[in-house]
Amino acid sequence: MKLNILKECEGAGRIGISGHVRPDGDCVGACLALWQYLIKCFPEAYVRVFLEKPAAIFGELKGFGEIDSEYGEEDPFDVFIVLDSSADRIGGAEKYFRAAKKTINIDHHISNRGSGQVNWVEPQVGSTSELICDLVEEGSMDRELAMALYVGIIHDTGVFQYSNTTPDTLEKAARLISYGFDFPRLVRETFYQKSYVQAQIMGRALMESVRFMEGRCIVSVIDRKTMDFYQVEPKDLDGIVNQLLNIEGTDCAIFMYQTGVLEYKVSLRSNEKVDVSRVAGYFGGGGHMRAAGCTLQGTFHDCVNNLSLQIEKSMGQIEKSAGTTEGKNGQSV
Ligand code: 5GP
Ligand code: MN
Repeated sequence: MKLNILKECEGAGRIGISGHVRPDGDCVGACLALWQYLIKCFPEAYVRVFLEKPAAIFGELKGFGEIDSEYGEEDPFDVFIVLDSSADRIGGAEKYFRAAKKTINIDHHISNRGSGQVNWVEPQVGSTSELICDLVEEGSMDRELAMALYVGIIHDTGVFQYSNTTPDTLEKAARLISYGFDFPRLVRETFYQKSYVQAQIMGRALMESVRFMEGRCIVSVIDRKTMDFYQVEPKDLDGIVNQLLNIEGTDCAIFMYQTGVLEYKVSLRSNEKVDVSRVAGYFGGGGHMRAAGCTLQGTFHDCVNNLSLQIEKSMGQIEKSAGTTEGKNGQSV
């Protein structure tokens, strides 16, 4: 089902857009692309994006400077659209969602059961930005819009590396780069480039990582003190967990950073041998089969013990089903 967003927003004077807390590239790209599209199609309407302050690397995308991270008083929105998440993970913007006359939820997370009055959730699609790309009518696409969508797509597919990349993803990307932006620079500067402290803290996390389950799992943790020492924020830690998964023999990588005295934000990555969306879902989080997250309470060791039990369970289930349905490796993102 493709949503007709223009029809859904017809006659709306006030439209709000939001995405998940700690917005990643897909979330920022999708929100800014939809914002650009809606202001183009409804020039009279008040259209606003509410997001926690995204990383400065996305500063080049049109509309970045208009993002509202203050969550001040607003009259009720006629339409409020949540992207890349369900409405319970949009932080300070949730109050606008609750007060809105009409709510729409567009996402690609398998864990999202649809939190709006109108829902478009496609778990088999690699990024929310791909869904937004589908919404944009051909004549309305332009260079700025293409850039935002491209950034969203490369971030959630790991620059077309993960198994959520489909022929359709690449066809969309091909169409987007035909708008003539400097995509190699965008990929380098938004995806691969690290600041010096980001590289240092990554190095430290890799050096202090610990392997268990005969090397099939790897975990690393950064505590509050270390984050303060390097003066880094959570968004500076992006990419560490992917680097852990790159280590030979690893089926599941866990990266944790401390968010409270006995609280950790957990990022999980896996290959096809563990379904981390199930692992994270067990602890109240969510995500995709190969990339998911949750928040855990307890000491570092409690967290690792609890996670490892669920990881083992998922490994067992996948091994069992691979044995019964030969040739099927449960691939999906
Ligand atoms: P990351 O590890 O990069 O923060 O997140 C990986 C994936 O899991 C993303 O798709 C992200 O939206 C999702 N995710 C991370 N943490 C949570 C969480 O606490 N709850 C839910 N529902 N999804 C999460
Ligand atoms: Mn996404």
